[in-house]
Amino acid sequence: MFDTLSDRLTAALQTLTRKGKLSDADIDATAREIRIALLEADVALGVVKTFIAKIKERAKGAEVSQALNPAQQVIKIVNEELVGILGGETRRLNLAKTPPTVIMLAGLQGAGKTTLAGKLALWLKKQGHTPMLVACDLQRPNAVTQLQVVGERAGVVTFAPEPGNGVGDPVDVARRAIAEAKHAQHDVVVVDTAGRLGVDEELMKQAADIRDAVEPDEVLFVVDAMIGQDAVTTAQAFQDGVGFSGVVLTKLDGDARGGAALSVREVTGQPILFASNGEKLEDFDTFHPDRMASRILGMGDVLTLIEQAEQAFDQKQAEKAAEKLSSGQLTLEDFLEQMLAVRKMGPIGNLLGMLPGAGQMKDQLAQVDDKHLDKLQAIIRGMTPAEREDPKMINGSRRLRIANGSGVTVREVNDLVNRFFEARKMMAQMAGRFGF
Ligand code: GDP
Repeated sequence: MFDTLSDRLTAALQTLTRKGKLSDADIDATAREIRIALLEADVALGVVKTFIAKIKERAKGAEVSQALNPAQQVIKIVNEELVGILGGETRRLNLAKTPPTVIMLAGLQGAGKTTLAGKLALWLKKQGHTPMLVACDLQRPNAVTQLQVVGERAGVVTFAPEPGNGVGDPVDVARRAIAEAKHAQHDVVVVDTAGRLGVDEELMKQAADIRDAVEPDEVLFVVDAMIGQDAVTTAQAFQDGVGFSGVVLTKLDGDARGGAALSVREVTGQPILFASNGEKLEDFDTFHPDRMASRILGMGDVLTLIEQAEQAFDQKQAEKAAEKLSSGQLTLEDFLEQMLAVRKMGPIGNLLGMLPGAGQMKDQLAQVDDKHLDKLQAIIRGMTPAEREDPKMINGSRRLRIANGSGVTVREVNDLVNRFFEARKMMAQMAGRFGF
């Protein structure tokens, strides 16, 4: 997925790196290349137009940055705008205040709903939830059995109509399932619904009836990323017919052009919550717009460098960090930023180097190797902004969620949090002792 788009975007942007100064004509030429790359990747025309207009406007009006050369500035803008059309911030699943949380899946047949139900169940279970699957796809032969099979693989309960009791009436099944979930104390219910090969009114009506019966906290529109432009029309039809609160992209492991991923959010205004990238239940994760954008740009390292160059130049930020450091208010976000900066630029090393007796700690910081740093970064990125701001709130269940979300063990999360508290205390003490 995205290989061609990545190659073309990289090529378009790389021609800029050889130029010392960019004229408006350079920017126009690059914008044209980007436009072609996006259209070839099947991104919806309207989305491409808006995107290109923003890139041009921002690139031409870009402030002179001391930290970045012109090409880097354009790459940064393209990256930020890509993150923007992919939804900006990572959107987490809404959980109901009073369980059970009801999640309803909707989408065309073959989109990957049933598989997703299993993936979601396993993912939720790993986070300590007790999900129950509900088989409301009573149209397709074998759909109920298929859901039961994925349910078993995920190790969760599946609610299905018993023969002769409610067979053929998905609304009734959905209602009884919710009552059963309350009774058996399942805290999340995932309702699988019927899909058709194409959008039709009966399908929409049935989905809307189920929606009204179960009052879901989330309606997830499941869409096969390989269907290209059709993804946009289908999404619009489902939004009009049923309405949804989030999107799940499936089959991102395919070698299609990926335009759906880039269009659906922008066209429907609803965020992408999850991405599925394989047939196994584990091939599934929270969708992170920033990570996806770097993947599409294929310039992870360049982007990191750009970020760090800017950080190193940001005098105000450095002063703010020093202030927070001395008052013991350093957050995990600051911690991560400083560690990243240390790797390439060394601001905290310089900062500490000014203090007598700080040498040992400077060495410690300098020893952090890249792999380790990537892991720490993944853990911190797996936290919510509130958790980064106030790591004290990271209790047992949050640790488990962070560990699952960032692919590490709970112990590694514990280590990071504990080390952060120690470091913060030590830094505050040192800063106090040396009056900085
Ligand atoms: P439903 O009709 O919407 O319930 O779709 P299914 O869950 O039955 O999925 C249709 C087909 O797509 C099945 O063969 C799945 O194994 C396959 N599938 C689902 N998700 C993915 C994915 O992320 N990647 C790949 N490669 N195949 C998937």
